[in-house]
Amino acid sequence: MPMRYEGGCLCRSVRYASDAEPVNERICHCRLCQRAIGASFNARLLFRVEDVAIEGPVRTFPSSEALKRGFCPECGTTLFSLRESAGVMGITAGSLDDPGLFKPAEHIWVSSRQPWLCLADGLTEYPEAP
Ligand SMILES: [Zn+2]
Ligand SMILES: [Zn+2]
Repeated sequence: MPMRYEGGCLCRSVRYASDAEPVNERICHCRLCQRAIGASFNARLLFRVEDVAIEGPVRTFPSSEALKRGFCPECGTTLFSLRESAGVMGITAGSLDDPGLFKPAEHIWVSSRQPWLCLADGLTEYPEAP
C-alpha cells in the first residue's frame, strides 16, 4: 500500500508531501549536516526531486557546491538537503507529521559523529559516504 509522506516547518508556512517510496533512508553524521540543522545528526529520507511537492516560501542555502539546504525563511526549520546534480532531496525526518514513517537503514559519515553518541541500533555504519 503506498504511503504518503507529509510534513512541514514549525510555523506551517512551508508544507511538503510525497506519495513515492524513498530512494533510501539514512542518518548522516557529517559536520555539514550537524551545522546546517543545528542538531547532532541528520535523519533524512531521500526522495527524487520530482516526487516531492513543496508549497510555501522555502529558501535554500548552499552548504557546499553540491548541496543546498532548504529551510523556512519565517521560522528557520530545515526541511531538506537538495542535491540538484543527482535530482534528489533528503527530507528531514523531524519535519514529518508522522516521524514514525522514518525507517533508517544506515548510518553514514560516522567518522564525524558526535563523541557522546553511542550507536547501538545494529544498523550498517559507513565511516564516510557509502
Ligand atoms: Zn516555518
Ligand atoms: Zn551529512
